[in-house]
Amino acid sequence: MMNSMRPSSIRLHWVRVPFWEPFRISNGEVSVKDAILVQIEAGGTIGWGEASPLAGSAYSGETPQSTWDFLRDRLVPAFLERPELDPFLCFDRISKLPGEPFAKAGLEGAVWDLRAQQAGVPLWSLLGGLHRPIESGATVGLMPELSDLLKRVQRFLSQGYRRIKIKIAPGRDLELVRAVRHRFGNISLMVDANASYELDDAGVFEELDRFDLMMIEQPLAREALTEHAELQRRLRTPICLDESADDLESVQSIIRQGSGRILNIKVQRMGGLWPARQAHDLARAAGISCWLGTMPELGIASVQGLHLATLPNFTLPSDVVASERWFVDDILGPPISITENGFICLPAGAGMGYQVAADKVAQYCTRFEELRA
Ligand SMILES: [Mg+2]
Repeated sequence: MMNSMRPSSIRLHWVRVPFWEPFRISNGEVSVKDAILVQIEAGGTIGWGEASPLAGSAYSGETPQSTWDFLRDRLVPAFLERPELDPFLCFDRISKLPGEPFAKAGLEGAVWDLRAQQAGVPLWSLLGGLHRPIESGATVGLMPELSDLLKRVQRFLSQGYRRIKIKIAPGRDLELVRAVRHRFGNISLMVDANASYELDDAGVFEELDRFDLMMIEQPLAREALTEHAELQRRLRTPICLDESADDLESVQSIIRQGSGRILNIKVQRMGGLWPARQAHDLARAAGISCWLGTMPELGIASVQGLHLATLPNFTLPSDVVASERWFVDDILGPPISITENGFICLPAGAGMGYQVAADKVAQYCTRFEELRA
C-alpha cells in the first residue's frame, strides 16, 4: 500500500501540435499549440495531466518555456521530495510555491487522474459531478470581412453547436451583432470583448443590451471590478467575468462587488481542478452561473475540464469543442467529438474515459524529461 502512495517517477513531455489555422491573440498569431504533458506513475498506475500555456503570452506572463522550466526545475522536484497524491490536498501542497498556475494545473490534473484510476471511478464522480452530457458552444474570432463571420457562424450552427460567441472590439461591435441577429434570428448568442473597452463606452453596451444576448463577456479591464459592477447595474444582459477571474481571491472580489452575474472558469488559470471546483462552489453559493472556458487546451486538459463541468452550477455551454476544431491532431483516443445536437458525452470508464495515445505523444514530443523519486 505504501508503494502506491508515493510516485516512482514523473515524466514531462513537451508536445507541439499544429493549429488548423493561426490562432489570433491580441499581440499576434500562434500557429502551434504547445503543451507540457505530465505523466505520473505510482503503484503501477499512470495518471496524466496537461500544463497548457499558449505561446506568445496570450493571457498571462507564462510561456511554454517558463512553464517547462518551473515544472522541471522546481515544482516536480519539490513534489517528489514531499508528494501529496490525495487530489483534495494536492493543490494546497503545491501552492507552497507561488504563482505558475499552468504548471500546477498540469501536475494536479495528473494526480486527479491517477487517483480516479486507482479508485476505479470516473473523474467526474471523484470531483463530485454528475454523469451528464455537456453543452458545447463555438467561438468566432474577429474576421477580416463580415461575410467570413457569417459563414463561420453558419458552419458552427450546422455542426450543432448550442451557442455562438463572437469576439468584439471597439468599432467592431454593434454592426457584427446586428448582422448575426438579422441573418440567424433568435440563436443563443453572446459576445466576448476580451477587456478591450472602458466604462466611457457604456453606450455601446446599452445598445447591445437590446439584442437579447446570453451574456457580455469581459467588457472592461481585468482589474476594473468596480467599473464592471457599475456597468452591470445599467444593463439587463448579464456580464460574464473571464480575465478578471484569475484566482480564488479575485472570484471572491467579483462576488463581493457584484461585478457580474456569470463566471467563465478556466482550470489552467485557476491552477487546477480543485481551485476551479472551489470557484464553482463560491459562485453557486452566490447565485452566479458558471461555464467552462478554454485557453484552448489539447485533449487531456479539455477532457479533465469537461469532467469538472458536470458539476451542477456549470449551467451554460462550455467553450470546449471537438478536437478537430482547433488542432490537426490530438493525443487522445478517441478525439473529443460533439453530438449532432451539440453535446459532448464523456465515455464511461475509470479516470478520464479516454486513452492517451503513446504514439501521438511520441510523434509530437519535442522535449522529454524523466524525474525519479
Ligand atoms: Mg473570454
